[in-house]
Amino acid sequence: MATFKAWVVEKGEGGQSLTFKDFDDADLMEGDVTVRVTHSTLNYKDGLAMTGKSPVVRRFPMIPGIDFAGVVETSEHPDYKTGDAVVLTGWGVGETHLGAYAERARVKGDWLVPLPDGLSPAQAMAIGTAGYTAMLCLMALDHQGLTPEQGPAIVTGASGGVGSVAVALMARAGWHVIASTGRDSEAEYLRRLGAAEILDRAELSGAPKPLAKERWAAGIDAVGSTTLANVLAMTKADGAVAACGLAQGMDLPTSVAPFILRGVSLLGINSVTTPQPKRRKAWERLARELDLDTLAAMTTTVGLRDVAGLADEILAGRTRGRTVVEVS
Ligand code: NDP
Repeated sequence: MATFKAWVVEKGEGGQSLTFKDFDDADLMEGDVTVRVTHSTLNYKDGLAMTGKSPVVRRFPMIPGIDFAGVVETSEHPDYKTGDAVVLTGWGVGETHLGAYAERARVKGDWLVPLPDGLSPAQAMAIGTAGYTAMLCLMALDHQGLTPEQGPAIVTGASGGVGSVAVALMARAGWHVIASTGRDSEAEYLRRLGAAEILDRAELSGAPKPLAKERWAAGIDAVGSTTLANVLAMTKADGAVAACGLAQGMDLPTSVAPFILRGVSLLGINSVTTPQPKRRKAWERLARELDLDTLAAMTTTVGLRDVAGLADEILAGRTRGRTVVEVS
């Protein structure tokens, strides 16, 4: 295949453009494994990359798409051979290294994870970066020693990708999950994923007080800003919140009060450069602990040509759960 189909972000005098076109194999970047991409997904960051609303793309031209599942075509890496099924999330793919919205990708073998036993490539991408990040959040809360006996858990941005998987994982782990959402219409959906209570996100949008009534022992926050500040102020003594996102904003208008007066911990989650051992552990746990029927209930599938049309939708918070992109 001398050329293959890809979405390409280019930068010209008029700004950033996005085109579906033939991409020359010779223009792929350096890497020791070439993969036939079968599935990718739509993440919030992909929306930013495709629209240019945030400077996520730092090399032009760029093929967006931060995660993929596929089959190894050629490999010079000792751990991979032709025909192996693999998964990739992060490492700057779709940002600084040519990405996943293409029929072919060339990457470092050290970035790959073998497709976990028990998951199809489509299921692995239904999980994708968002679901894998939700698992990293749960692992951080576990590592902190938190258990469902200590009280409820809040998940913010619950109808989104990270949020939906977080609700399902936390419920499956025995937590009483309070799902915070701005969409009344998704209450039934969130209950099906395992939410015990629905909280209108407006309740977390007011000016945060340093401390407020203690409501939950743990939290997974994909939203940041005022929401995270309110979540921290309402966290029980010795509780913890895993923070991974900025759907509301990058700021955090809080004070030290929750930390020094209640011993609350704020756990930062970065899925992009997670070292391999932790990465593999997260995928093993996802394959074991995430109910596949629940995963199917939160997943929509689109074709490669259709993904660009969803960029504005995910940034506006109008997509639900996870979106798999069928590439081939
Ligand atoms: P989605 O768009 O699927 O979900 C985000 C959700 O946040 C929305 O569905 C909506 O949920 C809620 N939301 C959106 N806008 C606002 C707002 N203005 N105020 C309050 N809530 C809002 O995105 P993803 O789940 O893919 O990603 C979520 C966040 O996590 C993003 O910021 C992303 O960049 C980040 N992320 C970080 C990673 C890391 O490594 N740290 C990895 C993966 C994602 P609802 O309608 O239910 O209220």
